[in-house]
Amino acid sequence: MPDLKAVEVARAAAEWWAGQGAGGRRRHLLAYKSSIAGRIDELAALIRAETGKPTAGALLEVMLAVEHLDWAARNARRVLRRRSVSPGLLALNQAAAVEYVPYGVVGVIGPWNYPVYTPMGSIAHALAAGNAVVFKPSEVTPGVGEWLADRWAELLPDRPVLQVVTGDGETGAALCRSGVDKIAFTGSTATARAVMAACAERLTPVVIEAGGKDALIVTADADLDAAARAAVFGGLGNAGQTCAGVERVYVEQAVHEPFVAALAALMREVTPGAGPDAPYGPMTTPAQPGIIRAHITGALARGARAVVGDAGSVRPPFVDPVLLTGVPEGCAAVTEETFGPVLVVNPVAGAEEAVRRANAGGYGLAGSVFTRHRRRGLALAGRMRVGAVSVNSVLGFAGVPSLPFGGVGDSGFGRVHGADGLREFSRARSVTWQRFRPPIDLMTLRPSASALRVSLAMFHRRHGALSSRSRDRRDA
Ligand code: NDP
Repeated sequence: MPDLKAVEVARAAAEWWAGQGAGGRRRHLLAYKSSIAGRIDELAALIRAETGKPTAGALLEVMLAVEHLDWAARNARRVLRRRSVSPGLLALNQAAAVEYVPYGVVGVIGPWNYPVYTPMGSIAHALAAGNAVVFKPSEVTPGVGEWLADRWAELLPDRPVLQVVTGDGETGAALCRSGVDKIAFTGSTATARAVMAACAERLTPVVIEAGGKDALIVTADADLDAAARAAVFGGLGNAGQTCAGVERVYVEQAVHEPFVAALAALMREVTPGAGPDAPYGPMTTPAQPGIIRAHITGALARGARAVVGDAGSVRPPFVDPVLLTGVPEGCAAVTEETFGPVLVVNPVAGAEEAVRRANAGGYGLAGSVFTRHRRRGLALAGRMRVGAVSVNSVLGFAGVPSLPFGGVGDSGFGRVHGADGLREFSRARSVTWQRFRPPIDLMTLRPSASALRVSLAMFHRRHGALSSRSRDRRDA
């Protein structure tokens, strides 16, 4: 059993941290943010060393993470302040308010694909809401996790409000069972199930940010060049190892051919490499190329057509871009997370069918729509069964720190980022205080007959209950 003394240490730190108040936490978090931002090159180099991603991708990841941290630090006081609410008719003698209080210690379990950006979505909001955090990074990226904790320790060496525990899945499982007050998990859907089962033992609440199989819808009126460029970025960026990356494209039949031609031309220009300036790098884990190859061969065996690349594009640790079309909907390449630079581009009769197919799978993380008509785009976006949608861009929401992020179905539940992300790491507590004695008191073992009569009369009047005479008339 991995040693998780960090959770005990975090308890005392959590008390101190909660006692700092929103103003104190904001000051410390902004200092923490600056210490990360000031050493962005160092952190990007470490991300690159552990994941293989090119420098630009690593820098972008840190920049986005810092934006979210900054937002959480600056907005926690406003979002989580105590709010007075109406006491309602029954309790007019009371004043009522809702408060948002920290959980205590939050365990954060992170993946390797964006080892700073994704866990920071939970870490920043959990800290800003007043919790201490024990972070378990992926065993693939332990150095990045330790680097983030070291920056905290430099600023507040005696206040271990953010700590890191490294290890494999067993350490993650132990963290789930350690008595932390909440678990924020980001990773695959399969591991999410194990995390929930472990958390169920102690009724530890969880937020789950799991996998995706995101669809991009291209309507006949769309700017096809813009849609193709977006599909390239969303599908090939980070070697396709992006939870909310584009894996499926549904294109209206009328423009399927020109869209595929435009997309194929762009994809043929891209070659992955190990250098810092490569468009994308190697697959980060040794298991992934095999999964990608299986998805490609499975689709081709069932009649799909490879427009760019084929199974031979998988040459570990690299995978060249692959564009498949006419892929039967039951194939793994359509239903399961490929997590590689493979785009399935299928024609559809119209936008209705595109939405139906986009919504058909178990995942529901994010999606995108390309159309020149704003209203139509927003209407289609509103019908996608996902947690986030971009119109005329991909991943447009990722850089907007006030927007919540999270999925539905197999992609998980709960939200990080934005005001919802701050509330995710707070418990709502209700408070009432009596301002004067109630003129009609029902909260007593022997309410007076007149109090009951007046209350019932008000009840019937307010809720439209029929008097017995009206009921008789209705039933006659
Ligand atoms: P995994 O599910 O394999 O691992 C995620 C984390 O869970 C790792 O730290 C892992 O540790 C840990 N872990 C493994 N087993 C257990 C267990 N039994 N109990 C507790 N923790 C455990 O995901 P990957 O790291 O491979 O990340 C890729 C996945 O993450 C993809 O599915 C991707 O879509 C998803 N993802 C989702 C995001 C979102 O916001 N929705 C964002 C980014 C990625 P170790 O690595 O040491 O085994």
